[in-house]
Amino acid sequence: MTSPASNSPAAILHDVFGYGAFRGRQAEIIDHAIAGGDALVLMPTGGGKSLCYQVPAIARHRAGLGVTVVVSPLIALMHDQVGALEEAGVHAAFLNSTLSLPETQQVEREMMSGRLVLLYVAPERLTTPRMLGQLDSLYERGQLSLVAIDEAHCVSQWGHDFRADYLALNLLHERYPRVPRLALTATADEQTRADIVDRLALGEARRFVSSFDRPNLRYTVVEKDDARRQLLQFIRDEHEGDAGIIYCLSRRKVEETADWLNAQGIAALPYHAGLEAELRRQHQNRFLREDGLVMVATIAFGMGIDKPDVRFVAHLDLPKNIESYYQETGRAGRDGLPADAWMAYGLADVVNMRRMIDDSPADEFFKRSQRGKLEALLALAEAHDCRRARLLAYFGEPSDACAAHQSACDNCRQPPATWEATEAARKALSCIYRFHQNGGQSFGVVHLIDVLRGRMTDKVAQYGHEHLSTFGIGADLSEVQWRAVLRQLIALGHVHVEGEYSTLALTESARAVLRGEVSMRLRQPSERTSRAKRSRGA
Ligand code: ADP
Ligand code: ZN
Repeated sequence: MTSPASNSPAAILHDVFGYGAFRGRQAEIIDHAIAGGDALVLMPTGGGKSLCYQVPAIARHRAGLGVTVVVSPLIALMHDQVGALEEAGVHAAFLNSTLSLPETQQVEREMMSGRLVLLYVAPERLTTPRMLGQLDSLYERGQLSLVAIDEAHCVSQWGHDFRADYLALNLLHERYPRVPRLALTATADEQTRADIVDRLALGEARRFVSSFDRPNLRYTVVEKDDARRQLLQFIRDEHEGDAGIIYCLSRRKVEETADWLNAQGIAALPYHAGLEAELRRQHQNRFLREDGLVMVATIAFGMGIDKPDVRFVAHLDLPKNIESYYQETGRAGRDGLPADAWMAYGLADVVNMRRMIDDSPADEFFKRSQRGKLEALLALAEAHDCRRARLLAYFGEPSDACAAHQSACDNCRQPPATWEATEAARKALSCIYRFHQNGGQSFGVVHLIDVLRGRMTDKVAQYGHEHLSTFGIGADLSEVQWRAVLRQLIALGHVHVEGEYSTLALTESARAVLRGEVSMRLRQPSERTSRAKRSRGA
């Protein structure tokens, strides 16, 4: 016999999951869901979102209210969760494209019989006429208990993970108005949050916003000089023998970086969508099971990976935006012990990202939003104040700088020197303007810096640029400083990068900078970077 006390959330947490206490706002969310309220749950990765619907699902099933449907886009995650629930004695199943017809029919029978506590289902499956017919029948019998929409940001076109199938989930509310809904996500800037509420009709839902702070993560961003060497140094200094993830943009770079690390004596495995499924699975399993392996991967790796002792996440290329950065770095230190989020970035990254957006077939509205997100990410990378505070501010969470923190960010540990770059920015813009006046031609970054610094190269001679009024007006600044100025100008959209040769052009907003209406302060490049660039230049 199940006594009322053993059906309490705390008892379920203890008896079914073997945990002693709820974390953060879990208890509040669970009480609210058991009572039948709608909720929007914003909780960082690793915060414990799953229990927020699993415990109510069990409590409501025991109370005779039937099955909880969990919508999830992640097949691997469905698999893991169903396995774990069954292990714990909770009857759960999933429906997705990996099941055969007889397997599907078996799950459907379990669901219709009322025995099933949780059903995980892919969004495209949920809205099929067949599935809806079954849900209608459960609803009429009062046997559709709860709907949980995991990864709810997939409904937003602003998000990094938009899935058209999520848009159709709106019909759940219209069709089953008496069934409470929980929408859960780890990524939600204001725009995405508003979109979720709007598209899933959650205007009346209570919002539970957890802190996004990951106090044990130490954020560091370095200027790219020789990124692989910098990475190697970082691993040798801080993480010899530790498990880590290194993100790269392209498959080729993944392979090359993994090979190179292995040659340097660091055990690394590649992971990207171009590898055979079997090999991918092998690498993933080895990473999860063996100690101290480094996974070099594209963003294909990581969704739903729950390895607690990842000691660092490194980015050799810029992530897409701050949400992606947060998610990817969030895979480090899930066990709560100190871990590093390390990133190297440079001018080429800025140019590439801008071009990827500009050249994409998306409409102008979408591109504008993407550019805004890129700007926010670059502002974080170029910041000379607390990175943690900036990151949290992006998620709408006020916070103090992390200076006193055990895992303080690089800027708090060692506040960087800055320099006044307003005049330099104006010089760079007027030089681009002169190029254009002088024969209507456009040039790239390297040539621009040569002209500003007054270097007599073949190209300068070929175009007679030593005669421009801007030739040599920036000889007082180093190449590294000029690259920083250009990074900012491109990041802020004052300079546009065009065409096959990545040539530079002024945009409308450059006028305000030229008129001296915009001021700019930049980080002083680190000693190491300046020295390396100088010795390689000339
Ligand atoms: P999310 O989906 O938010 O990324 P999960 O639901 O996968 O996070 O939970 C992350 C980890 O924390 C899991 O291993 C989970 O079992 C564990 N966990 C969640 N809540 C608790 C709790 N109250 N006590 C102990 N462990 C918990
Ligand atoms: Zn800080």
